[in-house]
Amino acid sequence: MTQIIKVQKGTKDILPTDVSVWQSLEEKALELFTKYGYKEIRTPIFEATELFSRGVGDTTDIVNKEMYTFEKSERSLTLRPENTAGVVRSFIENGMHRLPAPVKLWYKGPMFRYERPQAGRQRQFHQVGVECFGSSEPVADAEVIILATEYLKSIGLNDLIVEINSLGCPECREDYKKRIKEVLKPEFDNLCDDCKARYEKNPLRLLDCKVDSCKEIFEKPEIKAVINSDFICDECREHYEKVKEYLNAVNVKFVENKLLVRGLDYYTRTVFEIKSNNLGAQNAVCGGGRYDNLVKQLGGEDTPAVGWAMGMERLCYLVDFPPEKKSDIFVVSNYPEQAFELTQKLRAAGYVAEFDFANKKFNKQLEKAVKSANYAVFLGEDELKNNNLTVKNLNTSVQKTLSYNDLQNIKNI
Ligand code: ATP
Ligand code: MG
Repeated sequence: MTQIIKVQKGTKDILPTDVSVWQSLEEKALELFTKYGYKEIRTPIFEATELFSRGVGDTTDIVNKEMYTFEKSERSLTLRPENTAGVVRSFIENGMHRLPAPVKLWYKGPMFRYERPQAGRQRQFHQVGVECFGSSEPVADAEVIILATEYLKSIGLNDLIVEINSLGCPECREDYKKRIKEVLKPEFDNLCDDCKARYEKNPLRLLDCKVDSCKEIFEKPEIKAVINSDFICDECREHYEKVKEYLNAVNVKFVENKLLVRGLDYYTRTVFEIKSNNLGAQNAVCGGGRYDNLVKQLGGEDTPAVGWAMGMERLCYLVDFPPEKKSDIFVVSNYPEQAFELTQKLRAAGYVAEFDFANKKFNKQLEKAVKSANYAVFLGEDELKNNNLTVKNLNTSVQKTLSYNDLQNIKNI
């Protein structure tokens, strides 16, 4: 027997029965983000590998372990593992710093990471995200966080937890990194292998470790004291306080989490995540923060920015699926050519209309109409002779005769 080819591990078909929830998530995004002044941008799915090693950071798990990289014509290319780097590349390449600030861009689409697939974690997954360029004001941070919570509300998710933290600027963070390294030095041998590797290159990332033995180490009083110390400089603190004031002013609830450092290298000052209690281990639906140095680091004009990305599979898991919609009209007729023509006319008049290709028996057609449509339009011998249509409202059972060209009145029955 011929072998069946299956979908790849960590990837999924989004089937017609599920696609309506995806469409509604995307429609809501377009509607709400437009209200906040965002324009959609669509960047390519693959980019130069260097964009991610320089943009996301070569000490991150994404770049070290998770990228789908391949060669073509001696160029190293990578399927995008996230979309901030691609949007920043496009921002620079298209001179968007010359546009009036802030420049607000949003995106949706597939991302690719070679991870261990599990519930809420795939190798091809989808994100919707926003990036706001050109303002270092704390109100910009607050607005993107508010936009995230408003988006989640618009899709019916109210009981999520917003966690925030400030990573300071590169200057004040340097000292914090040193102190974290110092206090963890005696524990070095007890850290997990990943943390041992991060210790030199990216010590803040240790705090994000999900391994229980590492988490226990961070709970030790002398270590916890350093983690919880107020390391950020006066300017960064003032910025952070203002962000919190803006959130409080519009009643966006949040909790501060000193261990929130985020996986990507590019963040400065504000970072945040939005979590759900209903997702098990993969509980983050949204992650983001400020990245004031990334545009410059990738060769652009010095441009502050702030943004976030949400995992759409995790959103789909949390939202209630809307019931599958019925079509407007099913044409019931044993005159296939005339039924075909009438169906075309109905579609041209704006209806979602179907008829039976197989010209099955009248009763079979009626059964299908009841299951799949709100109205049945009968086109039989009498109707053809009298140039009219018999219309039945399948929800109320009211039935009426209309003249053949009176299609606009079908829904009034
Ligand atoms: P995690 O800690 O869950 O690995 P992350 O910090 O790697 O998340 P980000 O890069 O910030 O995630 O991406 C933002 C959001 O995208 C996450 O909060 C999550 O909802 C979603 N996401 C990330 N990786 C995956 C994946 N492999 N499969 C499904 N969704 C994902
Ligand atoms: Mg990850």
